[in-house]
Amino acid sequence: MSNQEVIYDEKFFENYPQHPHGGRLINKVLTGKAKEEGFAKAKSLPKIMIDLEAVITIEMIATGVLSPNEGFMNQADYESVLKEGRLANGLIWPVPLSFAPTGERNQEIVASLSVNDEVTLVDENMEPIALLTIEDIFEYNKTERANHLFGTNDRNHPGVDAIYRRMGDTALGGPIQLLQRVDWGPFEKLRLEPKDTWRIFYEEKKFNSVAGFITGANPLHRGHEYMHRNALEEIDGLLLQPLVEMAKREYTRHEFRMLAYRSVLDTYYPDNRSILSPLRVTYIFAGPRETVLHALVMKNYGCTHAIIGRDHAGIGDYYDKYASHTVFEEFLPEELGIDVRLFFEVFYCTRCHSLGTIQTCPHDENYRVNISGTGIREMLRHGYLPPKEIVRPESARIAIQGVQPKGLDENDEATLPVGQVIKSIFPFYLKYHGLGGSLRKKPLDPDQLTNEDLALAIRDVREHADLIYKDISDEYNNAGDINRHLQKQWVDEARESMIDQQEMVIDNLEEKVKQAPDKASDEFMYQDKSEAEKELKVAKQILDDLPKSVRGEDVKYRVWNGLPYHRYIGSDEEDE
Ligand SMILES: [Zn+2]
Repeated sequence: MSNQEVIYDEKFFENYPQHPHGGRLINKVLTGKAKEEGFAKAKSLPKIMIDLEAVITIEMIATGVLSPNEGFMNQADYESVLKEGRLANGLIWPVPLSFAPTGERNQEIVASLSVNDEVTLVDENMEPIALLTIEDIFEYNKTERANHLFGTNDRNHPGVDAIYRRMGDTALGGPIQLLQRVDWGPFEKLRLEPKDTWRIFYEEKKFNSVAGFITGANPLHRGHEYMHRNALEEIDGLLLQPLVEMAKREYTRHEFRMLAYRSVLDTYYPDNRSILSPLRVTYIFAGPRETVLHALVMKNYGCTHAIIGRDHAGIGDYYDKYASHTVFEEFLPEELGIDVRLFFEVFYCTRCHSLGTIQTCPHDENYRVNISGTGIREMLRHGYLPPKEIVRPESARIAIQGVQPKGLDENDEATLPVGQVIKSIFPFYLKYHGLGGSLRKKPLDPDQLTNEDLALAIRDVREHADLIYKDISDEYNNAGDINRHLQKQWVDEARESMIDQQEMVIDNLEEKVKQAPDKASDEFMYQDKSEAEKELKVAKQILDDLPKSVRGEDVKYRVWNGLPYHRYIGSDEEDE
């Protein structure tokens, strides 16, 4: 059968700026006559029922997304991957692709199998999905797997839980052949396989470089966009792959996330340089190792660069905030074979008036609006579009329709305590008197915050985020403009009035000092000379503190030229 398979080998990729991981793009999709024969054979073989996660994994293997893997791992590869993060031949591969069927019926079949047997893998409706040729049968140790892969055996970790839930005690290794894949429903028409993206990038669009971006359960926010734009400055194309499978229960529905992406791409991204295509990947929840897997998936899709944000594929507090970055230090760039671009946590700084990271912005938290995907989803549940500084309104308006669960529960709470949401997005609120404000005497306690506080924080940002930089610019313009035509007359008038009024106060006090006795007859009703002098001194200081108006004639001194004007624009005629 395999002679019907199209081979995408080194030669095929010779003229491309990238190669699949391990050199060959695996193609295990049976077509035409081979497919017919495969279906006929599938009927007579023993059958093992597989769950949706296995169905998805098989499709990924068959279409080359997980190249160079041709099927489920044998023991040597499995253990080497688990312990070293590499296949037995030394090639980087971060997560095991193992197949240890559960369930009584399946285990009976597994017990009857020997090496070189073939089995049919069927889905939950008994539809044949793939053929598996057995190369290896080995004992499967769940505890060892959990500890090596996740660094914990804690069943609260969703990845650990999945091992115990989904895996049996005996694993089967060997190559697969795909008979049929499952329809992707609403995403079917946007679905792309690696063989499609290589063609699009390098034949149709003639890109020389492409950056991949894989994103999880959140609607598109401006932290994502910041990374995309940075990449687009130097890289020809972007492949944006929102994950559309196996999310948490609490998330933004995939079809709405895709539509939110679409609306922002159509409005803000350059034409023809971004390709949006959903990615159906089982969530592995392996934090840093999953990040490496994503980089290799991008490589197999033909990307030359991988954009990796902070806490990529992170989950709870199981991993260090930047573990997804440091994991890449274990590999040489050439053995990874994709240029990884790591980004620090992106936030919006109202003082800079731009998005930035701690790498690029020197300002304090009191000017900052942080970007937290969880916090954004919570705001949507509270019924507010997040500030435009962190989520484009085009994205937020669609995402609010697709968030689940929607609205607040019977106690007016969303899925997280409101104090945590405020802390995650509006760091200024706890410590400062408003955005850009001064330090509070005592920070607020997040546990004491209410929905009213969330509304106040959002309102503060909506009203003032734009004003901070504008105020600064206004001050500089007023002090710096030589041509005063754009200055506000009413401001100059107010400043002049204050000065006139203060001079009046001073005139009056000077008179008072003259008349004041050395000692007052009643210390509350009248003032003696020394206190009257003090009043006068203060009034004069206030006059000094008042801002001055600057009129056009006042700044003439700033303009002079040592030579006739025409000399500066190229004429050497001295007396023209
Ligand atoms: Zn800043």
